[in-house]
Amino acid sequence: MQLTDPTLLETRAFLAGDWVQRDTRLAVHDPAHGTLLADVADCSRADAAQAIAHAAEAQPDWAAHTGKERAAILRRWHDLVLAHVDDLAILLTAEMGKPLAEAKGEILYGASYIEWFAEEAKRIYGETIPGHQRDKRLLVIRQPVGVVAAITPWNFPNAMIARKLAPALAAGCTIVAKPAAETPLSALALAVLAERAGLPKGVLSILPSSDAVGLGLEFCENPTVRKISFTGSTNVGRILMRQGAAQIKKLSLELGGNAPFIVFDDADLEAAVQGCIASKFRNAGQTCVCTNRIYAQAGIHDAFVARLAQAVAALRVGPGNQAGSDIGPLISQAALAKVETHIADARAKGAAVLTGGTRLQGTFFQPTVLTGVTANMTIAREETFGPLAPVFRFDTEAEVIAAANDTEFGLASYVFTRDIGRVWRVMAGLEYGMVGINTGLISTEVAPFGGVKQSGTGREGSRHGIEDYLDLKYACLSV
Ligand code: ADP
Repeated sequence: MQLTDPTLLETRAFLAGDWVQRDTRLAVHDPAHGTLLADVADCSRADAAQAIAHAAEAQPDWAAHTGKERAAILRRWHDLVLAHVDDLAILLTAEMGKPLAEAKGEILYGASYIEWFAEEAKRIYGETIPGHQRDKRLLVIRQPVGVVAAITPWNFPNAMIARKLAPALAAGCTIVAKPAAETPLSALALAVLAERAGLPKGVLSILPSSDAVGLGLEFCENPTVRKISFTGSTNVGRILMRQGAAQIKKLSLELGGNAPFIVFDDADLEAAVQGCIASKFRNAGQTCVCTNRIYAQAGIHDAFVARLAQAVAALRVGPGNQAGSDIGPLISQAALAKVETHIADARAKGAAVLTGGTRLQGTFFQPTVLTGVTANMTIAREETFGPLAPVFRFDTEAEVIAAANDTEFGLASYVFTRDIGRVWRVMAGLEYGMVGINTGLISTEVAPFGGVKQSGTGREGSRHGIEDYLDLKYACLSV
């Protein structure tokens, strides 16, 4: 790995402003080649307790900074991220596998949250409410919730953590974060730059750890932690909610999805195919907003499927750092096995493989299109998290809305149609936190990202995103 600034490859943990070594080490591998990239300090539950204590000490002073002062530090951090975008992308591709162009896109996307919340730090307004009695004056202020703990996944090693650190820090919270064990390097590199930007000691800790359960328990059981922000699977979200119940822990949860992608007869077919490729195959299908179920209306079904299969067959599979790769490796053998299980189950129940369908070397998998997919197949209910596009056929608008909503998840959804009335009806009828209309790409820092049902609670990004890190305080003044 050739970095212009080799100090960005940090293998120590960032504990309350100090870079610390640990005897136990966490091995980080390159999923494209299986080679060892680095041995990183493996933090314990006791380290987490220590980081939380330091975060509590640092919090009042961080909150006492003016919004403008916090904004200036965040802005410098943002600028440093942009100045090192190439190195950060190289690190990200090495530990996670996505194509370099996508890695660079992710760094810019993560940085956009730092920029956005740097701006929002100055706009944490309160309000006055006309009194309910003649001698009463009512005030509402917004205050930071306090110490925050964050847990993030491997599929966006930079952006998922940036999306939590930026609003928390902007709000005046201090934060202790545990990145995924597979991908700690991007998170640690962000901490290197945050330190350079002048973030005060103790305000931020980044603790790589193989003990997810132990750190999760510390975050939930330590009363100093006022809020947990988690992105990952619905199962772990449930565990955190259960564990946090004893202390009524405030939670933001961004969990799994099962995104429907609906193509009506009147859609622009080429736009639908391109939208589908973007939404389904980005990050090799390993994002929580990736299309999981494609519904094509009977009138265009065959034409859509033929064109989709052609576009999918043209995707190039290869290591992320190899020029021209569209699809990198999956994160693990387990991820590969899940794709295979979903294909085998669908085929056994009557689906046909139109293109792809088999594993390649290592953890690479051919981008795949399945047709004849029906509601009784596993893929209708479970997120594949891989490069597999299953197509269902439908007839009516009512039928497809019901099918799309027939899941416990409710994160992203997509619809392609040129009928404006239908756009509104379907958008309103979909039980999802986000709807892409005639587009397969919806993520931006200026909009609220999040889900309904068992896809989670809370929003990241937009002016709403900072609310997750603020408490309202109402004061009643008798004059
Ligand atoms: P994924 O399938 O994307 O790995 P997970 O929900 O398993 O999703 O992981 C997301 C994050 O949650 C990772 O940082 C992982 O280490 C962490 N994690 C896994 N199990 C637990 C747990 N019991 N408590 C707290 N964090 C956990």
